[in-house]
Amino acid sequence: MIPMDFGFSDDPARHAAGIAWRDAAIADGWAAHPACPTEPVTSAAVLVHPENYTAHVITRVLAGPGYAYETSVWVWGPDRLALDPPNRYDMAAIRRAVRTCNYCGKTDCATVRVGFAGRACRTCQPVEEKRLAPGYYD
Ligand SMILES: [Zn+2]
Repeated sequence: MIPMDFGFSDDPARHAAGIAWRDAAIADGWAAHPACPTEPVTSAAVLVHPENYTAHVITRVLAGPGYAYETSVWVWGPDRLALDPPNRYDMAAIRRAVRTCNYCGKTDCATVRVGFAGRACRTCQPVEEKRLAPGYYD
């Protein structure tokens, strides 16, 4: 599988991948809520899994000028720390991501907070913590 980069693009395939991610999550039992009162969930959704995972899925068609689409998938674990979501919805991969360091990629390890909601292994955590601006995280 070719890694899918989300973000701003003119690529309808990326946009469709974001929509597919959101719809697969909803079909798998995530509850969908509007991310903001001025947009439907089909454009900006907050998804909540019964095991307290949270996702924000942005699938905006932009009016231009500029890119045609904004497509983003962010996911946080039940511990409220960010995880690296799979490019295609996969709950088993999401569960594994809770035990994956977002800095070195080590898998099946305990992870701890870095900064606001970063997820790191115990080796990377002190290194990454030092990279943060003074006072950013006390
Ligand atoms: Zn690490």
